[in-house]
Amino acid sequence: MIKSFKKIVLKLQQLFINVFDISAYMHKNRGYNEISILTYHNIVQGKQFVNDACFLDIKLFEQQIAYLSKHFQVLPLADAFEQAKKKNSKPIAVITFDDGFYSNYSLAFPVLKKYNTPATIFLTTSMIDSNKTIWFCDLVQMLTVTTKKSFIWNTIKFDLSSPDKKQLASKHLQQLLKEKTQASLVTALSEISQLLECKPEIKYQEDSEFYMLTQEAINEMLDSKIIEFGAHTHKHIILAKEEIKLAEREIIRSIKQVEKITQKTCIYFAYPNGRPIDYSDQHTNILRQNNIQFSATTKNGLASTDEDRLAFKRIFIHTKTSLSKFKLQVHGCIYT
Ligand SMILES: [Zn+2]
Repeated sequence: MIKSFKKIVLKLQQLFINVFDISAYMHKNRGYNEISILTYHNIVQGKQFVNDACFLDIKLFEQQIAYLSKHFQVLPLADAFEQAKKKNSKPIAVITFDDGFYSNYSLAFPVLKKYNTPATIFLTTSMIDSNKTIWFCDLVQMLTVTTKKSFIWNTIKFDLSSPDKKQLASKHLQQLLKEKTQASLVTALSEISQLLECKPEIKYQEDSEFYMLTQEAINEMLDSKIIEFGAHTHKHIILAKEEIKLAEREIIRSIKQVEKITQKTCIYFAYPNGRPIDYSDQHTNILRQNNIQFSATTKNGLASTDEDRLAFKRIFIHTKTSLSKFKLQVHGCIYT
């Protein structure tokens, strides 16, 4: 009861801030010593048959970047942490992309160039120049193409009778699959593909929204000098779910691969899934020992210069983030 009352009060507050468009004013009152670090994943064009929180339409993306370029100092990650210590007349933002989708190059990069806004892409290194994708996109792809109207997995019945139901099934399945180690996740996905009567090993090409970055595309982005790269493990494992030795191998392998791909020292990392339960101090120590200086989580909020740079907060940009909600988020009035 109290909880729902609080929720209503919060919604009314947001409405008030939005109607009077005072999010920027409220941000100014807080000072500009925090950083709005945005988390993007896959940028898509047009409506997706089975949507996902991590897919953002290019039109919304461009609106958001245009807003940032006008109202913020958009900086590379390391520069932003230095700038935030100074006295600022404009707020500071950083653009990041997790996973390394090809769309970061084909759709987002032209927009980033147009507005001259730098960004950091965290690469899942095993996916580069492969026909593979991140597991949750495999799941979305299977749910998109299957003709099954329902299926039972792990004693749970999933309704697939409409695109919306498929989207709900995808969300529920992702929650369950994220609890697994990488090895058992692969087994579970293979079971699901059989139940959905889909091919277990899907090979993605450039025309698929799930295709991942290539060395050629990365080279072009490096040449522009506005895109930096960081590591995101080799196979996108959730670190805390695995034995520490395996987690260490994954971290180090991805850092070394990023250095090989970019011909630069890798100082950035993003924890896959990124909630505090998805990594531990042991993983952070491995990052520190391997020269990583900044590591991104998915904890929501503006990043402060006092907090641990090896576990900084970000703002997750959800698939349907309108410009008015975006303003509330980047100015630190709400985070989710
Ligand atoms: Zn990720």
